[in-house]
Amino acid sequence: MAAPDKQEDKARRQQINALLVEALSDDASLRPLPSFSQGATASLSLGLPTVPDAQQFFFVVSCTCGTNAVLNLEVAKNKSMLEVKTAIPGLVDHLRGRARQFKAMPCSMHKTR
Ligand SMILES: [Zn+2]
Repeated sequence: MAAPDKQEDKARRQQINALLVEALSDDASLRPLPSFSQGATASLSLGLPTVPDAQQFFFVVSCTCGTNAVLNLEVAKNKSMLEVKTAIPGLVDHLRGRARQFKAMPCSMHKTR
């Protein structure tokens, strides 16, 4: 089980979170979940797998029917900030793809989840 963020991890998380939020600022359908972005406890409470060597970031996508889905994104802790910055567009594209998939689902499928 992953330990809570250390002090330097916290600073790193804030930095990465800011980059992600900026990259997604033109997309109103994807909202960051700041209160959930505090490490392993969030993924445990959401039933998502925890990754000990990565920090996870959570985003909410909403359907017009009112169903929300939580999408998570992982950034390995051994990546330098430069590598993270380079990887952000790909990560965001992936996130957008999953959001599109969710919205393309018929609402009857959202509701049975
Ligand atoms: Zn729906």
